[in-house]
Amino acid sequence: MKLLQGKTAIITGASRGIGKAIAIKFAEEGCDIAFTDLFYDDIAKATEAELKAMGVKAQGYASDASKFDDTQKVVDQIIADFGAVDVLINNAGITKDTLLMRMTEDQWDAVIQVNLKSVFNFTKAVQTIMLKQRSGSIVNMSSVVGVSGNAGQSNYSASKAGIIGFTKSIAKELGSRGIRSNAIAPGFIITEMTAKIPEDARKQWEASIPMKRGGTPEEVAKVALFFASDLSSYVSGQVITVCGAMNT
Ligand code: NAP
Repeated sequence: MKLLQGKTAIITGASRGIGKAIAIKFAEEGCDIAFTDLFYDDIAKATEAELKAMGVKAQGYASDASKFDDTQKVVDQIIADFGAVDVLINNAGITKDTLLMRMTEDQWDAVIQVNLKSVFNFTKAVQTIMLKQRSGSIVNMSSVVGVSGNAGQSNYSASKAGIIGFTKSIAKELGSRGIRSNAIAPGFIITEMTAKIPEDARKQWEASIPMKRGGTPEEVAKVALFFASDLSSYVSGQVITVCGAMNT
């Protein structure tokens, strides 16, 4: 029996990167996938086709996760199309790195809105259906820098630390209704987000990781599968770091 057979997951920001790897891993386990991204473009369509070819129901939706009304609309549409939502993966995220001295209000606001407010938006939108079902698993993508901070990332770190507080609060608020809420804190994962880091800095980072390499999106996806499935049926309010022992 596959781990997510007959389940439906919503994954935000999943056309590429970690979100896409989670979608593929879940599809391998029989899960139907509704995923969002800012645009339903060729990349989103290719991801959708890849998922469908795996024999599950899959649909991409254009939605700005930072917008409250957009989110309610897209979740209503997903429920109309799929009939249920068992798993929510709040994955959409951006960086606008710079030292506080140079950080503009717009850079602060954009990162907080996309990374943190999106988690509120989607969790609020799915909670009614999960409450009715009396089950659900919510998985939020934090970061090691949300635990330990990082120079030049005060906006990003604050958003990711906020996600951890939100995750633990929701676990306490909704636990009695069979809804679990957990977070993943990846370290240095090789995606387009980290490709923006200059080669020299990237090599330095990798050398400082005890496992001497960056992680892969698939390695994050395996932890998402643990949280999404009954493998973690009594695990809630927790943060698992996926960082090759960088943040211990
Ligand atoms: P990525 O490759 O940049 O992918 C991010 C995805 O989010 C893209 O598909 C992007 O869409 C989407 N997105 C951005 N803004 C959005 C919005 N407003 N509404 C909906 N979707 C939006 O990033 P990644 O490395 O896979 O990261 C995924 C998550 O893991 C993020 O939350 C990130 O902070 C977290 N994380 C990553 C690392 C790492 O080392 N990579 C480490 C720790 C945590 P477009 O394609 O349209 O831009």
